[in-house]
Formats: sequence, C-alpha cells, structure tokens
Amino acid sequence: MSAAEASPSRHPVSEPDYLSEGELREMQLRRLQKTVLRAYENVALFHQRMKELGLAPQDVRSLDDLARLPFTTKADLRDTYPFGLFASPMKDIVRLHASSGTTGKPIVVAYTNEDIKVWSSVIVRAFAACGLHEGDIVQNAYGYGLFTGGLGVHYGAEALGATVIPISGGNTERQIMLMKDFGVTAICCTPTYFLHLIDHAATMGVDLKSLPLRAGVFGAEPWTESMRQHIQAGSGVEAFDIFGLSEIIGPGVGCECHHHCGLHIFEDHFIVEIIDPESGLPVPDGTEGELVLTTLSKQAMPMLRYRTRDITMILPGRCACGRTIRRIQRIGRRSDDMLILRGVNVFPSQVETALLQVEGTLPHYQIVLTREHGLDQMEVQIEVMPQMFNDKVGVLQDLRHKLQKALDRVLGIRAKISLVEARTIQRSEGKARRVIDRRTS
Ligand code: ADP
Ligand code: ZN
Repeated sequence: MSAAEASPSRHPVSEPDYLSEGELREMQLRRLQKTVLRAYENVALFHQRMKELGLAPQDVRSLDDLARLPFTTKADLRDTYPFGLFASPMKDIVRLHASSGTTGKPIVVAYTNEDIKVWSSVIVRAFAACGLHEGDIVQNAYGYGLFTGGLGVHYGAEALGATVIPISGGNTERQIMLMKDFGVTAICCTPTYFLHLIDHAATMGVDLKSLPLRAGVFGAEPWTESMRQHIQAGSGVEAFDIFGLSEIIGPGVGCECHHHCGLHIFEDHFIVEIIDPESGLPVPDGTEGELVLTTLSKQAMPMLRYRTRDITMILPGRCACGRTIRRIQRIGRRSDDMLILRGVNVFPSQVETALLQVEGTLPHYQIVLTREHGLDQMEVQIEVMPQMFNDKVGVLQDLRHKLQKALDRVLGIRAKISLVEARTIQRSEGKARRVIDRRTS
C-alpha cells in the first residue's frame, strides 16, 4: 500500500504541506523573486510603484525585503479595470473570472493554464486536509459562473479523483433530492446556504444525519464557531472552513484540517503577512491585524502585498496534524464591513456571536439600519425556534431580555430586537446579506 493510500489526508500533491521550514522559506524566496520580476516587467502599475520607491526586482534578496514592496488594494483593481494588471498576453490566458466587488465595477481576474493547475492543486490539498479522497461524491453548491467558487472547487474536486456534482447554488429541493439519491458524501457551499439546506431537508422529512454525507467544506463568507456547532449538531457533518479570494486565486488560499484550529495557508503559493491596518507595519504572530497576501506562482495576474481587509492573526506554533505550513485564525470580520453607528464601531460577526449564545434562537438574523431625526438606529431581526412562539408570552419576553443583555455586552449602543418566526428572513443562495442599510446620508 502506498503512503497516499495508507493515509488519505497525505495525498501526494500535499507534500508541500510538510516541507521543512528551511525548504519552504527557500522556495518562497525563489518564487517571490520570479514573481516580482514578472510583475515589474509586465504590469505598468507595479513597475511605476516600485520605481517611485526606488526599487528594482534585484532588491528582493531575502524574504524580509517583501516589506519594502508597495501594497496593492481593491481600488487598484478597479482603477485598472478590466485587464490592466495582467502580466500574460491574452493568448496565454485561458480563463477570466470576476468578483462582485462591494461597489461599482466588478474586479476581473485571469488565469493561464498553469494557474488553473496550481489552483486545482491547492483545492486538492484543502480537500485532503478535510479527509476527502478519491471515491467521494462531492456536491458543489457554490455558484458557477463568474464567481470563483464554483469552477475553482469543481476542478479541484476532479483533480482529487472525487465525483463532482456541479449543481451550483439554488433549487434547494433538488439539492436535497440529489444529496439523498446520489449518496453524496461531501458538500461545498456557503455556511449560510448549508443552514438553509438543513432547515429545508427537515421540512421535506429528510434526516441529513441518516445520509452518507460526512463532510462540509464551507467558505466565501465569515462564520463563527457557534455556527459550526449548530451545523454539526443539525446535520451530522464535520464542518471545515475554507478561505480564499478572487484577487489571489479564488477559494483554496487556506483551509482547516481535522484539528479545526485555524486555516493552513498554502504557503508555497501565497505569502502571508499580518499588518496593523492603520500604520501598515507588520504585527507579531498571535496579534490580530489585516491579512496581506502575495502570490508566488501566479502568471496571468501576480499580486504583490494585496491588502485583503480581512482581519485575522497568524497562529503561533505547529498544528497537531503535522503540516508545517502556518495557520491563520478563522476570519471573523473585515476591516471594511465595519459599521459605524453613532460613532460606534459594530461588526456583524460580534452580533452573531452574541445572538447565538442565547438559547432559543436560530442562526438566521439580519441587521437593519435606519436613520431617524439624524440619529442612526439599529434593529436586529432574529429568528426564534418555532416552539418559542407557541409558548406563553412570558417566554418570548424573557428571550428578548436575554438577547438585549447579550447584545448590550458587545455593542456600545442600544439595538432594537425583533423576534421573528422561523424562515421569515430571506435566505441567500450565496453569501448571506446580513446588513440592510436604509440610512441615507
Ligand atoms: P468579493 O470581494 O466580491 O466577495 P470574493 O468572492 O473573492 O469576492 O470574496 C473574498 C472575500 O470573501 C474574502 O476577502 C473574505 O472577506 C471572504 N471570505 C472568503 N472565504 C471566507 C471564509 N472562509 N471566512 C471568512 N470570510 C471569507
Ligand atoms: Zn492541521
């Protein structure tokens, strides 16, 4: 029996997960030097930015020199729309994707054949870390199309040797029917869509726990540890967090292993830095800050020090799984989804954590912002378990009181709480829409 067969998580393609520190850093430096040269020679923006700083590609002599390179932001992608950051001629580009972006024009990303291979290989390594292997039947409920989720996961699952069901998002009833009839063993989608699937299966009389489904690989939006507990208890699947962003490659930048103690970053393809979002200076391991990523093998669209706006930290120490690649903490929030209400910073994920600590609520909630007489108001609508509505009024009042206390603890301002019946908040087939902002400035 080969090593790969003996240990399904040690897929041959996963070897770089176990490199020695020296080998890995050496490989990173070599690849960084190539990437910087490629970016400098082929992308006007990078060329100009480096020149302004008096830097040439040869100045990157050690990994520490990375910190001398300029940052790249989402605005740079928007300003060079659509193809301004491409480092390969169009004839070498085999795929384009576009991310919805939060405002205005989408951002466009490109891949050569080699880039697609790398992308598939990191997804294979992510899946292997989740214990998936040849023979698994993978229901891919990420959206196909311009969004990187669908096709990224698809090619990776095929490269793993799994059977992929390219069902895409939506049509929940059919999702559950196929999951049951095809003997699906693993599912990929956003965590909120899986919650919706759990609910819907129940209404169809399907008990997910009785199906062969054993693993869920969830990402594309922030979710919390309490949501994991809820998902696992409600479905019997082991829930894994996968992370990525279009600007870097798509899904597959990092993923959890069975130990669920942070996401391993595939460091042979991506360099991780954590910076203070205010000063731009690096922070020590174990300290929260903004995640900055540099690609090491991308050809069509190399990315230097991309400021993700995602807040996380590098987790010190080694993971018990034996992988040597480092881990980041799950991403709970972005520095730019921060809401400012009456001068107070509010993160939707803090609200979620507070709500889910209170017994009797469901993980479906929405934050509605309004402005009355120039004053920002925040309402939190949250679904309540059906039996709570059947109980005496006192029970609901008691619940509201507990929720208010929980929210007051994390928010610096008072939020109005509205308890709503299960399934009344609109479900999303992709990323959940947590905040409805009706304030007009
Ligand atoms: P868009 O910026 O349009 O949403 P992407 O689909 O590339 O484009 O989304 C990338 C962003 O999605 C990340 O920067 C991060 O904020 C979020 N994201 C992706 N995966 C996760 C995850 N597992 N946990 C938290 N946030 C995630
Ligand atoms: Zn691990």
